Amino acid sequence: MKAALCVGHSRVINHSKDGGAIAFNGISEWDFNNALVNHIADKLDAMGIDHMILNAYQGDGYGSAMQWMAEQVDHAGCDIGIEFHFNDADASASGHEVLYCASSTRGARLAGFLNAKLGSTFGTKDRGITPIDSTGRGWAALSLPKAVMCILEPFFGSNESDWNTVAGNVDALAQAIAYGIQDYAQNQP
Ligand SMILES: [Zn+2]
Repeated sequence: MKAALCVGHSRVINHSKDGGAIAFNGISEWDFNNALVNHIADKLDAMGIDHMILNAYQGDGYGSAMQWMAEQVDHAGCDIGIEFHFNDADASASGHEVLYCASSTRGARLAGFLNAKLGSTFGTKDRGITPIDSTGRGWAALSLPKAVMCILEPFFGSNESDWNTVAGNVDALAQAIAYGIQDYAQNQP
């Protein structure tokens, strides 16, 4: 089992950072998740699960960046990949959610394990696992790699309580995600 840890929005566009959404406290998706994946890598090392980090996407646009990401994931022989984000909306929205490719039963299984660990670890609002089709946000990241892919939205950066509970406990968040990956690896149908 080899897992790709892919940091969403980790690219530079016309000399400025994409970075993704900015949390209420000014921290971007890129910056938060770039730190998070190193914690997850430590947890996976302890479990003996191989992994690769992608935290600086190449490519001139979103489409080419996703093509680049998919090539890296597949060329490295990754079985699964997770692209890391956080959600962003008005201050009242909260909770965790995992997106997967609508045509992938294995994607649904991986999403289920990850989402369950987020729920049992933090007890924040369960927004569930969400199938994404070709019209949906994140389709390219979910569908281009041969690896089983998920997009993780573990909290809302726009919600201070969500942030304090989840992002403020980065070690527990990394452990929850690593356990979700381990559950998937150990529970093949
Ligand atoms: Zn994002």
